[in-house]
Amino acid sequence: MSTAENNRVVVTDLVKSYGSNEVLKGLNLTVKNNEVVCMIGPSGSGKSTFLRCLNKLEDPTSGKVVVDGYDISDSKTDMNKVREGIGMVFQHFNLFPNLTVLENVMLAPVELKKATKEAAAKEAQSLLAEVGLAEKADAYPTSLSGGQEQRVAIARALAMHPDIMLFDEPTSALDPEMVGDVLDVMKKLAEQGMTMIVVTHEMGFAKEVADRVVFMADGHIMEEGDPQQIFDHPQNPRTQDFLRKVL
Ligand code: ADP
Ligand code: MG
Repeated sequence: MSTAENNRVVVTDLVKSYGSNEVLKGLNLTVKNNEVVCMIGPSGSGKSTFLRCLNKLEDPTSGKVVVDGYDISDSKTDMNKVREGIGMVFQHFNLFPNLTVLENVMLAPVELKKATKEAAAKEAQSLLAEVGLAEKADAYPTSLSGGQEQRVAIARALAMHPDIMLFDEPTSALDPEMVGDVLDVMKKLAEQGMTMIVVTHEMGFAKEVADRVVFMADGHIMEEGDPQQIFDHPQNPRTQDFLRKVL
């Protein structure tokens, strides 16, 4: 496999402005197949905006974003096709309250005609088992805890067989006792070789699971490296200051 084919995400000089507010100030990042990249940094530094530019929930102001070989900065690129390959899990799980857990997980594959109802139901059941919720298939989202809902949201994203999973602070809204189960599911995914970009405040997770940690501040990538480098020997004063506050 050539190097280019081995890259899942290639971001070049990405700038995103809202009016006169330049939120991303020329970001460069390459994520390889099977790589787990954790993004850390203070609130307001542009982490969510960056993730949203990867599936064009936000339109980049300038720069180039290539995901799964598709140049998504090119207006001719079929974004529906690209998005099918990108799973996204947010802080606030938005399951459909009127559908059962199983129906939530099978919805997209059926709607997008990727699977028959029978096949989708069978796979949804096995994905629910993967996230430890096999017995909740017929429950409604309102009867679940936040951590269980978030694990269903992960199963729902996986049902589309994504090549990349993007997580935006998936555990930040959870009660502390729920966090571990969700992180365990994410860790298992990483071990199975999923390419993942995870914005997180869970430094323990980043230390243990990330292949690479990226520290963002003020719309810049200030520093990146393997977890040991970033957590034990941060070079940038901003990284040092941030880690002093959170560790
Ligand atoms: P983080 O996820 O690191 O906390 P964000 O990407 O959410 O940071 O936000 C970065 C900056 O962009 C903030 O100053 C925020 O106010 C601004 N911002 C984010 N989304 C919008 C938007 N839709 N319109 C205007 N400003 C925005
Ligand atoms: Mg954010």
